[in-house]
Amino acid sequence: MTLTDPAVGHAGTAPASDRARTEDLLARHRAVMPRWQALYYEQPIALSHGEGRHVWDVEGTRYLDFFGGILTTMTAHALPEVTAAVQEQAGKILHSSTLYLNEQTIELAERIAGLSGIPDAKVFLTPSGTEANDAALLMATAYRRSNQVLAMRNSYHGRSFSTIGITSHRSWSPTSFSGLQVTYVQGGYRLRSPFRDLPDGEYTAACVADLRQLLDMATSGDVACLIAEPVQGVGGFATPPDGFFGAIKEVLDEHGILFVSDEVQTGWGRTGENFWGYQAHGITPDLLTFAKGVGNGVPLGGVVARAEVVDAIAANHISTFGGSPLVSAAANANLRYLVEHDLQGNARRQGERLRAVLQPVVNETPWIAELRGKGLMLALETVHPGGVEPDPARAAALTEACKERLLLIGKGGLYGNVLRVAPPLTLTDDEADEGAALLADAIRSIG
Ligand code: PLP
Repeated sequence: MTLTDPAVGHAGTAPASDRARTEDLLARHRAVMPRWQALYYEQPIALSHGEGRHVWDVEGTRYLDFFGGILTTMTAHALPEVTAAVQEQAGKILHSSTLYLNEQTIELAERIAGLSGIPDAKVFLTPSGTEANDAALLMATAYRRSNQVLAMRNSYHGRSFSTIGITSHRSWSPTSFSGLQVTYVQGGYRLRSPFRDLPDGEYTAACVADLRQLLDMATSGDVACLIAEPVQGVGGFATPPDGFFGAIKEVLDEHGILFVSDEVQTGWGRTGENFWGYQAHGITPDLLTFAKGVGNGVPLGGVVARAEVVDAIAANHISTFGGSPLVSAAANANLRYLVEHDLQGNARRQGERLRAVLQPVVNETPWIAELRGKGLMLALETVHPGGVEPDPARAAALTEACKERLLLIGKGGLYGNVLRVAPPLTLTDDEADEGAALLADAIRSIG
């Protein structure tokens, strides 16, 4: 057998034309990457680099980025403060292992514990959101000595056995085996809830009554936790009314059930004004999980909880890469920037700016059911006119129409019929106006 190094294999060939470079990358991707690793667009884009709120492809085309690497580019592409912190740390030590103390990692844990709002908090750092939720489930089930878990319908929590097991999206659940006994609660996805026509307060009350019945009829009562996204990310930015989780948590508290707020998409100010999604509900969660935007693109996640809950894991439990010095340095610089520049406030202001342009367009478009979300986490759901039957074809057409206008947006939702808008939180007034105008024009271009 001959081992080939693609870098060597391609060296010395004549420089490909720009389009040919994309085609070459696509062919190589298809040859060695999994079939289920989906790519956006009829002609996928090969990204080369980014700066601020813009990215460039390998053909030299510049796009306004309204999806920020699936909400991971939290502040901006190539933020100089993060780049400098990574470069400095890379010159010192990349990895020091969990066996030794490291300044960057400890500083990050202190910073996140302080920001979390959870009293007497400890932080366990992981390389991803999946592992953050895995650890949270482990802590909650160990603390409560129960393997029963509640999750929300239309939720997404990760790709490991346990997190797939609690994810309630058929399209994301190749198996449901996890060893956890899971029961699904009503509430996150109002547009497709049996209670959708009720006003906010009554909607919440109906979901709470359903939860009470569920606890009596579908569990033995000693449930470990409810895990929920304050705004459901992969599920299409489905947003329950403010205060919803406050009412739900009252029931949980009666039973001693822990509330896990999965803030992988909603954390760090993304929902505008508030630092966390849970704050719109007047509660403090027992556990909070995070990832994506914390380090502006480096692989980092984690769990925050009261010390007694974190320390309920009695066995050894380490993550080789969780919170390495390199990613911690990036996250420290990123979070410092976020807080010092009040990007939560900017997320609220720019979210309102986008809404002001998009809401009237949505009102005049019979195939968009609603504009929803919070802060810089906004979604449009495409349906067949006159009802709520999903229309993924129009969502795909709209994504392509935005690309033609050099605007990148996200696609998602249970049926692939939700357009997601989530630019980096440093979005400027001019960029918000430009992006909203491009999106409005793209919507109007589709019949
Ligand atoms: N939780 C939520 C709410 C997410 O949106 C995701 C990823 O999209 C995850 C968990 C899993 O995170 P990761 O892909 O970093 O494992």
